[in-house]
Amino acid sequence: MSDPARIHDLLIVGGGINGAGIARDAAGRGLAVALCEKGDIAGATSWASSKLIHGGLRYLEHYDFRLVRESLQEREILLRIAPHLTHPLRFVMPHSSTSRPAWLIGLGLWLYDHLGGAKTLPPSAAVAFADSPYGAPLQAACRNGHVYSDVQTNDARLTIENVRDAAHHGASILPRTRLLSARRENGIWVCTLRTADALVFDMRFRAIANAAGPWAARMHTLLGGREDIGIQLVRGSHIVVPRLYAGDHAYTLQNDDGRIVFLLPFHDNFTLIGTTEVRVRDPDELPAASTEEVAYLCRATNRYLRNPIRPQDAVWTFAGVRPLLDDGKENLSQVSREYRFVLDQPRTGDAPLLTIIGGKLTTYRRLAEKALDRLAPTFPKMAPAWTAQALLPDRMIDSGADPGCDFGGGLCERDVRYFIEQEWAHDADDIMWRRTKAGLSMNRKQRDEFTLWLERNR
Ligand SMILES: Cc1cc2nc3c(=O)[nH]c(=O)nc-3n(C[C@H](O)[C@H](O)[C@H](O)COP(=O)(O)OP(=O)(O)OC[C@H]3O[C@@H](n4cnc5c(N)ncnc54)[C@H](O)[C@@H]3O)c2cc1C
Repeated sequence: MSDPARIHDLLIVGGGINGAGIARDAAGRGLAVALCEKGDIAGATSWASSKLIHGGLRYLEHYDFRLVRESLQEREILLRIAPHLTHPLRFVMPHSSTSRPAWLIGLGLWLYDHLGGAKTLPPSAAVAFADSPYGAPLQAACRNGHVYSDVQTNDARLTIENVRDAAHHGASILPRTRLLSARRENGIWVCTLRTADALVFDMRFRAIANAAGPWAARMHTLLGGREDIGIQLVRGSHIVVPRLYAGDHAYTLQNDDGRIVFLLPFHDNFTLIGTTEVRVRDPDELPAASTEEVAYLCRATNRYLRNPIRPQDAVWTFAGVRPLLDDGKENLSQVSREYRFVLDQPRTGDAPLLTIIGGKLTTYRRLAEKALDRLAPTFPKMAPAWTAQALLPDRMIDSGADPGCDFGGGLCERDVRYFIEQEWAHDADDIMWRRTKAGLSMNRKQRDEFTLWLERNR
């Protein structure tokens, strides 16, 4: 598998957005990097988000100004370095009897427009729905509101493109490979890894970055980290329904419990609705949208829409687990989306373990830079930060090549082979739901047939 005597610089545990961002940054700075992911790249939280690159308007209410500013700055950077994976979106926020007062919303939006310091996106504005197409799907009682700007992305593809670029810069990518254990030996980590085929092997590293998301606290303890790490695991679910309204905009709906629910345009023919907050104890529990969460999302939507939706309208549901800082707050909406680093290095000269806690998709790039700042004493020759200016790669499928079998939903054999050979895809779900969203437009029979085909032809 790998020369056990060779000493690499950095092992990154976790192929979610944070691990992917750190791998790309570190490999581009000249470090010898390996990234291990126990499942598929982006196979845990990083494909189950609301897919927004956003400042987090509601974090202003919790005075999280640092986080909002950084997120807005990152929004600008990602629009620049990933134009193929990001696009601006107008969010329509109707006022209701339970909304924050209009003047407070106006003030918050003014701050939101200015806090990041950039002016690429159109500013917020008040809107009267009688004169605006934004009002068309809304109930007659919704007369006024505000519009503001944020950005939509494709979370799984953003993660995969970061990993592809890390590999392009020389990183070894080890998907379906779990870090089983690690011990410090003469200033080096000796790490024991296991592949999906049960092959167990050792690799040596000067440092470990633990970006295991919901498993980060468990991993920190497994590797002997001394600080007691607090992570709150909070499940969020989404439903996807056939497109609810014309237009490319989104809606930000305030529910009667004070929470926000988004309606987002999704893959041409669909609307994505989310999300929820449910406390979870065990990261190994496979997240799934419960009946109650689906009903909650329908209820929140129906407070505003002219044509109500029902749970059975959902053509797809998915859920992910947020690994949040445990800041002692009981109300899950108020738990900060900030991130924190814990550096474990018992004595000078010991190989460091850097654990990442919390974060958002939006802040992954800056988080990666800061993670490497924390590891800089171990790597004094590391090149400077570079990712704020460098374009992320795009898929390069040869559209002139023979497409081969047509599996439905726009998925063909040529593309499937590309995902397997170039993007570490293995299972049908990796391709139907992460490399693409073809699964949404395929019927059950097509999905079953593709799964069978892949098992026979892989
Ligand atoms: C419902 C929901 C909506 C969200 N919406 C947004 C949004 O719109 N915008 C935004 O900015 N953020 C959003 N977020 C937050 C964002 O999705 C997460 O912060 C981010 O995806 C976390 O990434 P991560 O890399 O830390 O974790 P993950 O993506 O979970 O990656 C961690 C990886 O570590 C791997 N791993 C664990 N243990 C091991 C081991 N022993 N060996 C090898 N690999 C291991 C796991 O398999 C996993 O793939 C949302 C989150 C949720 C749940």
